[in-house]
Amino acid sequence: METTAAFEGLTCVDCGETFDAGTATHRCPDCDGILDPSYDLDRIDLTPATLAGRPGESMWRYEELLPFTREVAVTLGEGDTPLVECPALAAAMGVGRVLLKDEGANPTGTFKDRGQSLATTAAREHGASDVALNSAGNAGQAAAAYAARADLDAHVFLPSRAGFTQKAMTEVHGADLTVTDPVGGNSQIGDAGRAYAAAMDDHPDWYSTKTFVTPYRHEGKKTMALELLEQLDWEAPDAVVYPTGGGVGLVGMHKAAREARELGWSDELVPMYAAQAAGCAPVVDAYEAGADRHEPLSDDQVDTACNGIAIPDPGASPLILEAIRESDGGAVATTDREILDAAITVAREEGLEIGATCAAAASGAFALADSGEFGPDDTVVLLNTGAGNKDVDTLRAHLGESEA
Ligand SMILES: *Cc1c(COP(=O)(O)O)cnc(C)c1O
Ligand SMILES: [Zn+2]
Repeated sequence: METTAAFEGLTCVDCGETFDAGTATHRCPDCDGILDPSYDLDRIDLTPATLAGRPGESMWRYEELLPFTREVAVTLGEGDTPLVECPALAAAMGVGRVLLKDEGANPTGTFKDRGQSLATTAAREHGASDVALNSAGNAGQAAAAYAARADLDAHVFLPSRAGFTQKAMTEVHGADLTVTDPVGGNSQIGDAGRAYAAAMDDHPDWYSTKTFVTPYRHEGKKTMALELLEQLDWEAPDAVVYPTGGGVGLVGMHKAAREARELGWSDELVPMYAAQAAGCAPVVDAYEAGADRHEPLSDDQVDTACNGIAIPDPGASPLILEAIRESDGGAVATTDREILDAAITVAREEGLEIGATCAAAASGAFALADSGEFGPDDTVVLLNTGAGNKDVDTLRAHLGESEA
């Protein structure tokens, strides 16, 4: 395997055991915990000045802080996304600056590309011929794209509630798509997960790129925080508001902020705020209850149009809650009406297109501002995890409702 100089292997977040990345590929062989790539940061031969001289190009410009070398990367040019000033939102929230990190600019229109770039690279390094996952939609589409790029076969399991774009593009990329559709209702991500698990039992050679089953998706998403910090001259913002489902991006960004601090590139951690929809807010509930992990919701308790964060049982909630607390961030839930209103406000006031799911970050930031969480000089970053045009139906339908 073509690994980078500082990469040491995979450490289990539960039992603390460390494994060789050549042999351990997914969850902890001892206790089934989540494996996390670890580095000897003393061996990182990179400085902000060196980085400044590198072209943008892709997330692979942070190669030294990733497990695999750029030479073997499965890449479509993901990352290097813009950080856009939002003066009208800053005025409305009463803060110094609002910046929108626009992950909609990624190859398949969401930040899922960063995770799939790294996880698909790992799959190829491990000699896989097939990758498989269940997803709410965007990760499935991204997996199909990266598998096509790597010449692997992809098996994607989506619930019926996933968006048309995500289902269509998964097939356009040539993946084998299964849409779960139980009689009498819209199926949820858990249904897709059961279909995926049954298929994995039948095909033990399929290589999973599912959330927190592969150790590499949150690792790829680390690059969002590295980029953000670099765009801010390594000065941490006062808040990053992140639409949280499984928490892959939030956990990855927090890890990057810790590494940047340890390397002496920045002085502070990045306060991470989890934004969820009130119709599916297990992380916010756990945060408010002072709990270390979430209480799973049942599928029929899920009531939100925000597909990407309709995750009733986020298995990594202990990591999410730890990241929020350690970074001195927070958690906030808003209603679908507030969320979709916020998407339309951002589109009209700033001209920026944000997806329905991502709008939870915008409405969450408004709610936090209202509750006095931010100061008048604060810099608040909204993570726009995906492009508005992936959710046109939901946004247009809301327009009809709100103007009726
Ligand atoms: C997957 C997804 C999320 C949630 O991501 P996590 O990192 O798993 O919390 C948010 N927004 C969009 C658009 C997504 O596709
Ligand atoms: Zn373990």
